[in-house]
Amino acid sequence: MRAFEATQLYFHQAADQLELSDNLRSLLVTPRREVQVQVPYETDGGEVACVIGYRVQHNRARGPMKGGLRYHHQVDLDEVRSLASLMTWKTAVVNLPYGGAKGGVAVDVTKLSQRELERITRRFVDEIHDVIGPDTDIPAPDMGTDHRVMAWIMDQHNKYHGFNPGVVTGKPVEYYGIPGREEATGRGVGLLTVKLLSRLTRKAAGAQVAIQGFGNVGTHTAKFLDEAGCQIVAISGSRDGYYRSEGIDVRDALHYVLEHQGSLEGYASADPISNDELLELDVDVLIPAAVGGVITVANAPRIRAPIIVEAANGPVLPDADRLLAERGVTILPDVLANAGGVTVSYFEWVQNRQHYKWNLDRVRGELERTLTTAFEEVWDEARAHSVSLRTAAFMLGIRRVARAATLSGLV
Ligand code: NAD
Repeated sequence: MRAFEATQLYFHQAADQLELSDNLRSLLVTPRREVQVQVPYETDGGEVACVIGYRVQHNRARGPMKGGLRYHHQVDLDEVRSLASLMTWKTAVVNLPYGGAKGGVAVDVTKLSQRELERITRRFVDEIHDVIGPDTDIPAPDMGTDHRVMAWIMDQHNKYHGFNPGVVTGKPVEYYGIPGREEATGRGVGLLTVKLLSRLTRKAAGAQVAIQGFGNVGTHTAKFLDEAGCQIVAISGSRDGYYRSEGIDVRDALHYVLEHQGSLEGYASADPISNDELLELDVDVLIPAAVGGVITVANAPRIRAPIIVEAANGPVLPDADRLLAERGVTILPDVLANAGGVTVSYFEWVQNRQHYKWNLDRVRGELERTLTTAFEEVWDEARAHSVSLRTAAFMLGIRRVARAATLSGLV
């Protein structure tokens, strides 16, 4: 199943519950604008090379469109389209005044130098600068991009349109960024995992957790949950996983990846396991925090964790979602679980527009307040309609977007 079909399916499950009209459904599923551009650049060796970049703007009924920019060799229009619509529902679930968008460049960042990455980023902005902006569409980091890429985007966009740091979020703190943005998604995943455990009358202290992906989201999730008393028993990178039944020393693992250019490869303080084995471990909480589509009908019957928290976007495919629901597995969906990043991006955008600097305590406090409200609303919606947390989150998001679209006089 293609990524866009999966999101559509989740959308229609919730739309059925809401008894949404066909007209409104078609308005809400169709992206507003899809842009595909050629991004030519010069390699360090002086050769001409070319990659393809995408920006899909899904919906702006509730405000300027917002969504990350992904650099990954598997990026294609279908994936970006799916992630753009997820952003529409995500910003609505956490009640931020935004719509949804997403971008991507099909490139393998591990094969590029910093200078090549910068040239690609600036050229991509040259191609799309007219369709993004602080009041229209605001990119942010995602897989393969970070604060440096966001700084280049701001700088390049400002060359065309004048000084305006609010055109992009996730910038370095020293360059119009906000403290706490880098940790925000993982911190939000951690916060919500603890809330979910408590709602399910389970204790966070001593709960065994396996985390797939040890990048931005995975590391900050591990750090937060470790400090909350959970036992992180497994972690993994793209090629390798590591397991220790008594719990991995998270600080030691973080130190290891810092020393090894972000890679866990060769980590000797835990036993090596494969990424597939990690997903099937007998743990209390499984947190896929890498790529989409890792839990499918093929491996769903072997998943033993009773709780899955979707830190990555779209890690559980719809058929697997159904199988896991039948077995009573509780899934905290991506539209809520990883919304911490876009929430702090919103604070950064507000800070940029007001030219008033926020401190870390304020960011963390407001993040917790925003996510807690959204969690309680999704939980209540699920209970009120006897549906899964995923369907409840989509129902909440769709209802808000549909209402705004209707009030604006579009239908
Ligand atoms: P990242 O690039 O910092 O880290 C990704 C991690 O996943 C790395 O450890 C990498 O080695 C690993 N990985 C890559 N391919 C893999 C594979 N096939 N199997 C297992 N592991 C693999 O990315 P990130 O920012 O941490 O994003 C991770 C996920 O979270 C993505 O799905 C992204 O869309 C989602 N997300 C990120 C943010 C954010 O603020 N960064 C916000 C919302 C959602």
